[in-house]
Amino acid sequence: MKTIFHLDMDAFFVSVERILDPSLMGKPVIVGGDPNGRGIAAACSYETRKYGVQSGMPARTAYRLCPNALFIHGHGKEYGRYSKLVKKFLDGYFSVVQQASIDEFSLDFTGCETIYGDALSFAKRIQSEIFNLFKLPCSIGIASNKTLAKIASDFNKPMGVTYVPAGKEKEFLAPLPIEKIPGIGKKLLPLLRTRGFRIVSDIADTSPDYLAAILGKFGLDLWEKANGRGNDLVVVEHERKSISKETTFDTDLVDKAKIESILFDLTAKACQLLRDENFQSSTISIKLRYSDFVTITRAKTVKNTDDDKVVYDTAVDLFRKAYTRRVGVRLIGIHLSKLSSFGEQEVLFADENVIRKRMLRAVMKIRGKYGYNSIHIGKN
Ligand SMILES: [Mg+2]
Repeated sequence: MKTIFHLDMDAFFVSVERILDPSLMGKPVIVGGDPNGRGIAAACSYETRKYGVQSGMPARTAYRLCPNALFIHGHGKEYGRYSKLVKKFLDGYFSVVQQASIDEFSLDFTGCETIYGDALSFAKRIQSEIFNLFKLPCSIGIASNKTLAKIASDFNKPMGVTYVPAGKEKEFLAPLPIEKIPGIGKKLLPLLRTRGFRIVSDIADTSPDYLAAILGKFGLDLWEKANGRGNDLVVVEHERKSISKETTFDTDLVDKAKIESILFDLTAKACQLLRDENFQSSTISIKLRYSDFVTITRAKTVKNTDDDKVVYDTAVDLFRKAYTRRVGVRLIGIHLSKLSSFGEQEVLFADENVIRKRMLRAVMKIRGKYGYNSIHIGKN
């Protein structure tokens, strides 16, 4: 059983606008659209919600419901910047951070209790750290899968932490309105309502075959969700497909030892980047350019690794085989590709050491932040 956190920023765009202009604090604010009726209310502050304003509704409707709201055009770049700051903060604690949207993150806490303490207290701690550091409020849901954690994060907004203990999934979901399940939107909601589905237990207690008959494969998926089951795999999105480091020399080199020592430095840098971004590579390549611009690349497939020694031994071997001409070398480079994240390998090569590896990664992160002696690992 896993322990997944879903962290969702509260009224994120509005919160960022309030950092940029503190006079908006405590006032009804709507980001996006204008009161004349154009556009969509992309985000609305909690002060507007008691009038029935919801994010995603036409600005015209929002204005009718809450005429004293302040409409703001929005600062898209700033939202992106703050989103990155929060991501970076979370990367400091969690070995696997999956960004679900600009203001939502899935985090895998499994196996971290040993270092960070119990899930609930730790969630409260990161919530207050994010608030103190960035002045950004957020809510966190904790559950055994991603969907349920997301539903839980929405349960007690703003600044809520909701924990659904393992075994209580169905019980927690049962009384909630069906639209709390992600995927039930404007189209599906009336269809399900006319068929008598009002709260989640209505779905959970019906036959999956019936749902499959009316909704196809999505019906089965919905039934699983209503019963508290779902995907629990947190994966790092692949922004990066490969890592390269190369150097062009001021003067062409013929000294093999010198070139190899430069290759060694490049390897160390590439591997550090690999580990920082939580990847391992299974294809190691080198690039060699002679002084006459003839360029050679050589690659080798290895078992997933982020180990400098494995990467360097492979790279230097490739280099020695490739460097056959008695001509000066102008450029040497290393290229790591076929990257995969820690979370994915867990599925591909599931083994009993995964939890320990995860713990060691977390320890490494703490040491990176607070020094080697900041944490000690017990013997078991
Ligand atoms: Mg949000």
